Amino acid sequence: MQLLDGKLVSQSIKDSLKTKLIEAQSKGAKIPHLAAILVGNNGASETYVASKVKNCAEIGFKSTLIRLEESIDEEKLIDAIQQLNADNDIDGILVQLPLPKHINEEKIINVIHPGKDVDGFHPISVGKLVQGLPTFVSATPYGIMLMLEHYNIETKGKHAVVIGRSNIVGRPASILLSRNTNPGNCTVTLCHSHTKNLKELCLQADIIVAALGKPGFLTADMVKENAVVVDVGITRVPDAAKKSGFAIKGDVDFANVAPKCSYITPVPGGVGLMTIAALLMNTYNASLQK
Ligand code: NAD
Repeated sequence: MQLLDGKLVSQSIKDSLKTKLIEAQSKGAKIPHLAAILVGNNGASETYVASKVKNCAEIGFKSTLIRLEESIDEEKLIDAIQQLNADNDIDGILVQLPLPKHINEEKIINVIHPGKDVDGFHPISVGKLVQGLPTFVSATPYGIMLMLEHYNIETKGKHAVVIGRSNIVGRPASILLSRNTNPGNCTVTLCHSHTKNLKELCLQADIIVAALGKPGFLTADMVKENAVVVDVGITRVPDAAKKSGFAIKGDVDFANVAPKCSYITPVPGGVGLMTIAALLMNTYNASLQK
């Protein structure tokens, strides 16, 4: 079994971005600038946004964090996005999800200019993704593909089972894996909460992407020998032994599944770090459009 090491791969992506940036700047290119909007004080969202901002600084990107009150109304949030759309120095805009219940996420995502949609959630980005056209690919599925590519994992003709059909992870991951690209060219089965024979399907899978948000869901009896397992899950579970009071758990029962796998991502240290690296790549590419 080999670990798919998100720390190592994301660092190599960041190093290469840093090098490209230094070279581009010597030729007068602008510094990529990411704007992140955080509404409210959700603990996990705070952590994710802080990490995105920190990673921008690490590689020499600019970032602007806009914090808005939990109680903000939709119109004010839309105004804030439109200001960023109009600001020529801003290359990428992300609105950290989830948003408070009174705000319609779909409506908000639609306001982001597609040319600055570095999270790849805008319908135009998703439409292009489905058609195989160049676009911003949402960061988590993009990060998964970069990971598979880095380790030269053969995907052509393989059966991939994706568990979870969310617009931000499962569904785009299923599309990317099925595209006529490398990595890609898989036969994909997209499973969800109404899938009846999940265990049987998983047992047929050469590659499993677990993205459902249920800690330890994928157990060893659901995985065939030598499968590649990508664990997207990030759930905070209470853990008195930790200073923070919680531990981060993935969707895979890692201890028992790992010995059966050819490759597996750890949690933490896997897909989460790749997501940030992919976001930085999208931001860099957005800055090149200028
Ligand atoms: P979501 O809640 O939007 O979607 C979960 C999906 O899982 C749904 O499509 C649902 O049908 C499916 N599902 C739920 N229970 C199931 C079951 N018993 N069997 C089969 N399918 C089932 O979640 P999401 O936003 O896609 O996130 C999934 C997980 O990935 C969460 O733990 C989230 O925190 C994590 N996540 C991680 C990253 C990262 O960077 N690593 C990024 C985004 C999300």
